[in-house]
Amino acid sequence: MDSVGVAAAAPDAGPGPAWQSKCPWGAPNTTSISCSLADVMSEQLAKELQLEEENAAFPEVVAAAEGPFITGENIDTSSDLMLAQMLQMEFDREYDAQLRREEKKINGDSKVSISFENYRKVHPYDSDSSEDEVDWQDTRHDPYRADKPTTTPRKGFIGKGKDITTKHDEVVCGRKNTARMENFAPEFQVGDGIGMDLKLSNQVFNALKQHAYSEERRSARLHEKKEHSTAEKAVDPKTRLLLYKMVNSGMLETITGCISTGKESVVFHAYGGKSATEDKVVPPECAIKVFKTTLNEFKNRDKYIKDDYRFKDRFSKLNPRKIIRMWAEKEMHNLTRMQNAGIPCPQVVILKKHVLVMSFIGQDQVPAPKLKDVTLSSEDMKKAYYQILTMMQQLYKECNLVHADLSEYNMLWHDGKVWLIDVSQSVEPTHPHGLEFLFRDCRNVSQFFQKGGVAEALNERELFNAVSGLNITADNEVDFQAEIEALEKMNEDHVQNHGKKLSTFSSDGDPPIYDE
Ligand code: ADP
Ligand code: MN
Repeated sequence: MDSVGVAAAAPDAGPGPAWQSKCPWGAPNTTSISCSLADVMSEQLAKELQLEEENAAFPEVVAAAEGPFITGENIDTSSDLMLAQMLQMEFDREYDAQLRREEKKINGDSKVSISFENYRKVHPYDSDSSEDEVDWQDTRHDPYRADKPTTTPRKGFIGKGKDITTKHDEVVCGRKNTARMENFAPEFQVGDGIGMDLKLSNQVFNALKQHAYSEERRSARLHEKKEHSTAEKAVDPKTRLLLYKMVNSGMLETITGCISTGKESVVFHAYGGKSATEDKVVPPECAIKVFKTTLNEFKNRDKYIKDDYRFKDRFSKLNPRKIIRMWAEKEMHNLTRMQNAGIPCPQVVILKKHVLVMSFIGQDQVPAPKLKDVTLSSEDMKKAYYQILTMMQQLYKECNLVHADLSEYNMLWHDGKVWLIDVSQSVEPTHPHGLEFLFRDCRNVSQFFQKGGVAEALNERELFNAVSGLNITADNEVDFQAEIEALEKMNEDHVQNHGKKLSTFSSDGDPPIYDE
């Protein structure tokens, strides 16, 4: 390997003039090459380090699969493979720069301009991280399959006597490999190496071939997405990249479009693809919830997360971008709790930064209607009411959660039952405002069903007691709320004095139960 390959183009002349004259990229001297490559690598390394740090902070986030290409740990410029990859990167960059120059030249000062954007290489290493790049195993082409018959005869050697050359001859093999680069996809630029006496080792060749295939698939997908989807306009480039990666890895088949644009999130529909791991199945249809990274919208939500002890220690240390991710993380955890309790809700598929992929509630790209938009028979209405009552109790008792934004806007009607969604703001009942949030939820639910003609619907105070198991007796709203706040204060005082929360509230004379 070391004696053949790109680096061996001038094996004995040293890195001086021979290299310069043969370098297809025409760099004036070696120092400039190693310098720019080193820059690239250290940038890469910095990104890897940042990733590592982030992964440590978000251990639940599904670990990224590591591609066989360059990673932070095995930076080794003595390897031919490495050099070939780095030169490819350099070439891609120059290619893109040239495109930009051409574009500029053609457009000049014209008001109407043409774009070469679609022809750019956009090398993966220019992107914000190398995590979960293309899943190499899912390629339809087997990158190691036998190539077309070569000119070496069956007997495995040519020539006679001391001029015999076997098929294993490194020089011949290297040249052949270089020539075979022509078989790569036509759009894949292989430089002018073909015209030179360049000898590629099998390993380098195979790696380049793999790379060519995956680039081909990648750019086909990117361009297809670009042309067919307007959805992406709703998200910033970093998010777009995350979404592309999900499609590229095969986890998602296609992202079809936007279901909802809210103040705090944008939700897309996607068809599921294949999971990287055998034990997990990607649902046939997925909803992708992208938490908006424009921070303004989230300012007024501080109170939910700041006082949530599960996130308390982390909150103070985090920058705003990470706080947004925490919302996504919170939604994931809360959905998982609900799933475990058997509450109908979306199933979490994967969380990547501020992007949460879950199962889609609905069918054939049509999301299930919100309870506020659907007209139910009185029988279904009653059924829905009792189901919600049960769900609220399960949520409180089994999941130890209060939805905190429960209303006909966040309940979907699908398959003859109610599904709960939108739980990023959900908190535990012992949150400093947890009971107030619960009371608000109860008010929304009671009012909706009372207006909807369900005679059996409890009023908000009865519902609150039925869900929480508390027994607040006040018969008017003002007193009721005062009692709720008194309970919350009692809990807070307890936290101040004992450094921990009551695990549940109790108002019927039993001693409170504490978390140990
Ligand atoms: P927001 O915080 O913007 O209200 P939601 O989680 O409520 O975010 O999602 C917004 C809308 O997107 C919902 O009202 C619903 O119509 C749709 N939606 C969200 N998640 C799903 C899902 N898993 N399946 C189908 N539709 C969904
Ligand atoms: Mn919502």
